[in-house]
Amino acid sequence: MAIWNPWHGCHKISAGCQNCYVYRRDAAIGKDASVVTKTGSFDLPLKRDRQKQYKLSPAGGTVFTCMTSDFFLEEADEWRAECWQMIKARPDLSFAIITKRIHRFMDCIPQDWGEGYPNVSVYCTAENQAMADERLPIYLTLPIRHKYICHEPLLGPVDIEPYLASGQIGYVLCGGESGDAARPCHYEWILSVREQCMEYQVPFHFKQTGAVFIKEGKTYHIPRKYQESQAARAGIDYEGSPDPSTEDPKQRKSEEKIQEKELDRERWLATDLFERIRRSPFRSRFQLKAADKRYVQEKGMEVIRSHAGDLVRQRLAPAHIPNDGKQTPMKGHPVFLAQHACGCCCRGCLGKWHGIPAGIPLTEEQQAYIVDTLMTWIGRQMEET
Ligand code: SF4
Repeated sequence: MAIWNPWHGCHKISAGCQNCYVYRRDAAIGKDASVVTKTGSFDLPLKRDRQKQYKLSPAGGTVFTCMTSDFFLEEADEWRAECWQMIKARPDLSFAIITKRIHRFMDCIPQDWGEGYPNVSVYCTAENQAMADERLPIYLTLPIRHKYICHEPLLGPVDIEPYLASGQIGYVLCGGESGDAARPCHYEWILSVREQCMEYQVPFHFKQTGAVFIKEGKTYHIPRKYQESQAARAGIDYEGSPDPSTEDPKQRKSEEKIQEKELDRERWLATDLFERIRRSPFRSRFQLKAADKRYVQEKGMEVIRSHAGDLVRQRLAPAHIPNDGKQTPMKGHPVFLAQHACGCCCRGCLGKWHGIPAGIPLTEEQQAYIVDTLMTWIGRQMEET
């Protein structure tokens, strides 16, 4: 992870800022953190070393930007355009911006932003439910390619399900507060966010416990140097499904539709065949006529069963049937009618109504199942007056 601080200093804007580490650090050296100044690293993305190589390289990881201020701070308005130019000039680097000022986003983007620079991710901070409900609805309307939520410091339980359900959030990060005056972070709040992320398959990372960590009613005071390792020990990070921003949304939608259809189809196939054909206007119109019934009575069910077995073996069982789709006449034998009524007239209908794939020979078992189905239908027809 690399850090680029083009300016330094900030103003407190919400509850999460109460114990801001920039203020704490500056106070320790007698500096006023509310004074916002450009830093000597302002043009760091373009700086080169003696070998003329960029000082920031992709090998250094994501460049976390403006970590001692807020990128969308009012005082930085006149400097920001130049930063966007540098970000654009380094497409080989990924820049991450964490902000509590998402409401200023549209006033702060460059003219050529479009749907967002591909190398920029924006974390929207939501330290409590009030801030989640204030900032996240705005966040979801914005043109940002990589949208992430930051619950750090997490100051209370949060319900972010409605925002995760949008399908736009690619990652959620959680953590407690550090420093001598740190407010407590409850493990159950962290676990709740994790559960919500798992529900929507959004990657989740428990970054650090904070200085005051409450688990199962017990309060732990955790020194700064152990806060990240203790969080890692919990082993609750969740990888989720791939970042939706890196997927083709059209492909994702069509895949979801296919999955939905497959699920619906499985449920449909699992329901009773005779109920399904009863609801089909085409299948339900096939009935045995008086002449057909007389034929069945004269021959007897066992003979009809053997006819059905022959017809299935000869006209349905082969892997390749030259006249598939046309091999079953609409009349001439009770078994033909039963085949149409039960969706057993060709390999296409067998696939659709019974889930039996075409292109491979029917097994003995499949043939027996089809014959049983046809004979059940014929038996029921014979019982009807
Ligand atoms: S926005 Fe961030 S940097 Fe600014 S005061 Fe709040 S916590 Fe500190």
